[in-house]
Amino acid sequence: MNPVKKIVKPLEVLVIAGKTGKVTVKYPFEEPLVSPEFRGKIEIDPAKCIGCGACVNACPPNALEMIESEDKKTLRYFVGRCIFCWRCIDVCPVGAIKGTREFELATNDPMDLYDYIVHSKVVCEECKHPSSETARMLKYVWEKAPITENYNNKCPECRKKSFIKAVASRRAGPIGEKA
Ligand code: SF4
Ligand code: SF4
Repeated sequence: MNPVKKIVKPLEVLVIAGKTGKVTVKYPFEEPLVSPEFRGKIEIDPAKCIGCGACVNACPPNALEMIESEDKKTLRYFVGRCIFCWRCIDVCPVGAIKGTREFELATNDPMDLYDYIVHSKVVCEECKHPSSETARMLKYVWEKAPITENYNNKCPECRKKSFIKAVASRRAGPIGEKA
């Protein structure tokens, strides 16, 4: 570098820094600078969640998981994996997820990093096996897309069979009627 430039450059930097002023804070002794657009930890409202799993499908790093047992569906949020993209908020059909500006997430207890929402599965009135759906999911679908037959308390497999039977009987016409 040119020797004159070598002297002038640091002076230029000093002038710029002087004009800009102080841009850092003594965190954690001072309040951190958190803008309104900052994306932090998410919160899931257990009273609103219907257990549909849309957020799980949308979550890039698998911070959200749906753990299924015989009669339960458990939505698990692991903040240690979360990249705070908030895609889950966009896809949740019932607005059960909200974003916060919380970022101070360090803890001595790893269990603090998990949130769980447990749903009971609906028992199919036809085959009596637990369905993969929750009562809230069925209510949501029923309200959005009501259909004439009552498939509400049936598992997907029995619902499919009932639907095929209903379509076949409509095509065939009333029992005993000849074409
Ligand atoms: S904010 Fe992004 S990474 Fe975090 S749980 Fe939601 S979708 Fe997954
Ligand atoms: S998308 Fe919303 S309603 Fe569906 S499981 Fe996730 S939080 Fe629950």
